[in-house]
Amino acid sequence: LQEDGYQVEAVRNKGYHIVDSPDVMTKEELESLMSTRWAGKNIVYYDATDSTNLRIKQLGREGAPHGTLAVAEQQAAGRGRRGRSWESPAGCGIYMSILLRPDIEPDKAPMLTLVAACSVAESLQDLCTGNMQVQIKWPNDIIISGKKLAGILTEMNVRAGKVDYVVVGMGINVNIADFPEKIRKTATSLRIESGRRIERAPVIAAVMERLEADYRIFMRTQDLSGLMDAYSRMLVNKDRDVLILGEKEQYRAHALGITPMGELIVRRGNGAEEKIRAGEVSVRGVYGYV
Ligand code: ATP
Repeated sequence: LQEDGYQVEAVRNKGYHIVDSPDVMTKEELESLMSTRWAGKNIVYYDATDSTNLRIKQLGREGAPHGTLAVAEQQAAGRGRRGRSWESPAGCGIYMSILLRPDIEPDKAPMLTLVAACSVAESLQDLCTGNMQVQIKWPNDIIISGKKLAGILTEMNVRAGKVDYVVVGMGINVNIADFPEKIRKTATSLRIESGRRIERAPVIAAVMERLEADYRIFMRTQDLSGLMDAYSRMLVNKDRDVLILGEKEQYRAHALGITPMGELIVRRGNGAEEKIRAGEVSVRGVYGYV
């Protein structure tokens, strides 16, 4: 039982006592909860895999339909942006990637990262009762209490100058109770923040429902004009001093908000305003992670 994730306590002269049982998630359960038209309707389920983004890329190449969702109980090679890794312990997180086939120009695809960030943040906020505030660290990180709760990684494949498919990967820390030393100060989970265990399957269904709605809003204008208000309300960097960590340059600036194309607007020390594109930089707080 312990190997399967049950927490078992030995009671002297009496026997064993199950203290905590694992959150078992099955493909059937997920399918039964999905109330969407296309997002997450075709589910591919893995007990273990390398990375759900890699699985969806392969399914994309093989012609899988728009909205196909890969879900894994654990990832051996979960990935973040620019080759970084994503901690994906078994049974206590959500590791999923969705296949999208939008009819848009390739330069618009990075905006889907912000669309997904909006959907994940909104659905987690709906789930969090009480005074927890879910926020977004531009462009792709979901934050609670100044720590990272979820991350999003978008990748695309272009064919003949058009988007062939886009993969949006989402990693959500649901019931992780403790993190490795190197991210302990910057990472958190729903369980740590709320003090209770949360079932993962309904969270996945809620994110899919929101994503389907937000995607429709995005596709109407093929930019973020319909989602700007929601995104900006949750943007943790807004009206704060930030550190912009680029490949060549690192500097301090004041973040003002985002553009309808998803760029971050910042004001430099000399008063000049500029727009930063996602993918080029990481943003940090001046005194800490946000
Ligand atoms: P930042 O570096 O500011 O966190 P980023 O968007 O550039 O933002 P990502 O590439 O999205 O970062 O995520 C990878 C990073 O997130 C890793 O380098 C690690 O620091 C951190 N990380 C890895 N796994 C987790 C996890 N399960 N929960 C929270 N943070 C994680």
